[in-house]
Amino acid sequence: MTKEKVLITGGAGFIGSHLCDRFLSEGYQVIAMDNLLTGEIQNIKHLMSQPDFELLHHDVSNYVHITGNLKYIMHFASPASPIDYLKMPIQTMKVGSRGTLNCLGLAKAKGARILIASTSEIYGDPLIHPQQEDYWGNVNPIGPRGVYDEAKRFQEAVTMAYHRFHGLETRIARIFNTFGPRMRLCDGRALPTFISQALRNEDLTVFGDGSQTRSFTYVDDLIDGVYRLLLSNYPYPVNIGNPEEITIKEFGEEIIKITGSKSKIVYLDLPKDDPKQRKPDISRAKKELDWKPKYNRVEGLKPTLEYFQKKVSD
Ligand code: NAD
Ligand code: UDP
Repeated sequence: MTKEKVLITGGAGFIGSHLCDRFLSEGYQVIAMDNLLTGEIQNIKHLMSQPDFELLHHDVSNYVHITGNLKYIMHFASPASPIDYLKMPIQTMKVGSRGTLNCLGLAKAKGARILIASTSEIYGDPLIHPQQEDYWGNVNPIGPRGVYDEAKRFQEAVTMAYHRFHGLETRIARIFNTFGPRMRLCDGRALPTFISQALRNEDLTVFGDGSQTRSFTYVDDLIDGVYRLLLSNYPYPVNIGNPEEITIKEFGEEIIKITGSKSKIVYLDLPKDDPKQRKPDISRAKKELDWKPKYNRVEGLKPTLEYFQKKVSD
C-alpha cells in the first residue's frame, strides 16, 4: 500500500527534525524541505538512509513544487531564536509571508491539510497573564522583534483567510519556548546558552535583573501536542506549551545546580521589547486535543543535558 506523504518545512531544524521522526514512526512518507539557514544536516543524518525519508534543499520563500499527492503540510521553516531573527530580519519576514503563501497555495493545489508553527511571540510583551488564545497581544511592529512577531501574525491572518475563503483545512499551533536535544549550542536562546556556559564553568549571562519569566516545554510534549492538533478538527489557534513558569534568574540558578557547575551569574542589559512574562493558558489544548504536558522542566532537562554534554566535549 502507498504511504501517505507529509511535507515538513524546516525539517532539518530543532523542532522540524523531531517532527520528521514522529511522522516516520507513524508510518508516513516524509519530505523535509530546508535551506539549512539555521538547521543542521546532523539533526536528520539518522534518517537519510530511510526509504521513506527525503530531504529537499530548497528555500520555501521561493516557489515550491512537489510531485504527487500530499496529505499534510507542516510549515515550520523560520529562524526562531531572537539572535537568528535579528541577524536575518528580511529572510524571517519572507519565510513567514512568502513562505507561508507558497505552502498555503501548495496545500490548496494538493487538497492537503496544513498546520503552521505560530508562536507565543504573537502576544508580544503581554498585558494579560497567563496568555489565552483570545488575547490579541501587545506587539511593537517596528521594534527589533517585530520582524518575527509580525511575520507570525501575518502567517496566522493569511492562514485564516485561506481557511475562510477557500475552505482549506488549516491548523495553527501557538508554540511556547520549547527545549530538548538538537537545539544549537550557540543559537543565543537562554537554555542552550546557559547550559553551554555552565558546562564550561563560564559566567551565565542573565539579561536585565532576571525577573522576566518564561515557561519551558520539553520537545516530546510539544511534538505530541502539534500532532494531536493536526489530526483534530480545530481550525483556530491553540497554545501548546507547559504552564510551569520560572524567572530567568531562577532558571540560571537551576542550570548551575543541575550541572554542578562553578559558574556565577552576571547581569547584562535587557534587550529591547523583551517580554516580561510568558505563560500559556492551555485550557483549549486540554479541551480540544485532550493534551497536556507529560514532562516537567527538570525531567526534560536530563536528556537535554546529556545531548549538550556530548556536544560540548565533541
Ligand atoms: P530552527 O532554527 O532550529 O529550525 C528552523 C528550520 O527552518 C531550520 O532548519 C532552517 O534552516 C529552516 N529554514 C529557515 N528559513 C527557511 C527557508 N526560507 N526555507 C527553508 N527552510 C528554512 O528553529 P526551531 O526552534 O526548530 O523552530 C521551528 C519553528 O517553530 C519555527 O517556525 C519557529 O518560529 C517555531 N517556534 C519555535 C519555538 C521554540 O521554542 N523552538 C517557539 C515558538 C515557535
Ligand atoms: N536571556 C538571558 N540570557 C541569555 C539569553 C536569553 O537572560 O544569554 C533571556 C532573554 O532576555 C529572555 C529569556 O532569557 O528574557 C528567554 O530568551 P530566549 O532567547 O530563550 O527566548 P524568548 O522567549 O525571548 O524568545
